[in-house]
Amino acid sequence: MREAVLSINAGSSSIKFALFGLGTDDALEAISAGKIEGIGSSPHFIARDAAGRVLAERRWEDPSLGHEAFLDDLLSWTDTGAGSCRLVGIGHRVVHGGVEFGSPELLTKQVIEALAKLVPLAPLHQPHNLAAIIAAKMARPGVLQVACFDTAFHQTQPPVATRFAIPQAFFQAGIRRYGFHGLSYEYVANTLEQLDPKMAGGRVVAAHLGNGASLCAMAGGRSIDTTMGFTALDGLMMGTRCGAIDPGVILYLQQQKGMSSEEVEHLLYERSGLLGVSGLSGDMRELQASEQASACEAVELFVYRVAREAGALVSSLGGLDGLVFTAGIGENSPTIRALICRRLAWLGLEIDAEANEEGAPTISTAASRITVRVIPTDEERLIAMRTLDLVRQNQELRVA
Ligand code: ADP
Repeated sequence: MREAVLSINAGSSSIKFALFGLGTDDALEAISAGKIEGIGSSPHFIARDAAGRVLAERRWEDPSLGHEAFLDDLLSWTDTGAGSCRLVGIGHRVVHGGVEFGSPELLTKQVIEALAKLVPLAPLHQPHNLAAIIAAKMARPGVLQVACFDTAFHQTQPPVATRFAIPQAFFQAGIRRYGFHGLSYEYVANTLEQLDPKMAGGRVVAAHLGNGASLCAMAGGRSIDTTMGFTALDGLMMGTRCGAIDPGVILYLQQQKGMSSEEVEHLLYERSGLLGVSGLSGDMRELQASEQASACEAVELFVYRVAREAGALVSSLGGLDGLVFTAGIGENSPTIRALICRRLAWLGLEIDAEANEEGAPTISTAASRITVRVIPTDEERLIAMRTLDLVRQNQELRVA
């Protein structure tokens, strides 16, 4: 039976997964990927092979089914439906590792308890990550399971980049800048190291522009600053999240407009960003297809905010050698890349219109002082790689 590793990324209403078979020298070969969507309403499971062909699809009528039921189903499917694999490891995306976890961890009882203590730092995400971990541990107690953290990549930030200008006691209590999207940035940093070691060794801004969006300043492949902070609400404008906002606005909404903290939360996470400004959609593709003035305004603000924050990160880096675009918008929208690059032309950055239109791996001209690349991210593969590392280390320890 072929050995395999499963990556799981569990959210409130969805579970994304990717299954990798182990080839020669433990090379990860994509077998299938997919998701269960609509948990809590009308659940739908779909799995595709590496070429995008549908391997399995299923719908359920019961909205009360939870993460446990779906994970059980998914794991049974990996045993049989996906080509009779034997799972040697399950890797879980975990949004918050706090200050404690700077690298992937085997999910022992103690680690799970420590992760549960971090729920107040990420109440919208961490409980769902934990629900999936607990369900997968119950369903496959014999398989090693690993937590891979979205925050961990940013642990190399210098102390000054982690502070808010509030009294020390708050910092000691964990109110500091953590940063997120770390699995995506680690994948980008690794890929860049293989593609272009010179650029990877220099000063790079990576732009993860998806529904969630952030920038990361990397020096020699390590994070030294990032736009998301205490939560994934900070920094850039996103699909439905506001990004950085004067904290006085929140006080005003609560104190003068009588909004509850739940209402403010809903406003800032769900009704803002591209959706809030356009009044139409939080989906960049839809906004680019629209001719309404408010759609253009939302796109303009998105671009402005990316360029402005990128300028700040160039300052953190003390200069810039390379820029990388990744995630849904960064990988697929030549228009947005061109608009951002135009605003950053003062850095000596120039893009090749044709290469940009094609989404070529390098989209800057030969004369550009900054190399601009497009690198498709693959957080699931990174999770599988890190999971397999820990599985093999554990096996070696047992033999020794
Ligand atoms: P998530 O953060 O949920 O993983 P993605 O990385 O898939 O999101 O990014 C989703 C965003 O990418 C959406 O705003 C979508 O409209 C945008 N996107 C995908 N393809 C294109 C495209 N061809 N042009 C513009 N935007 C695109």
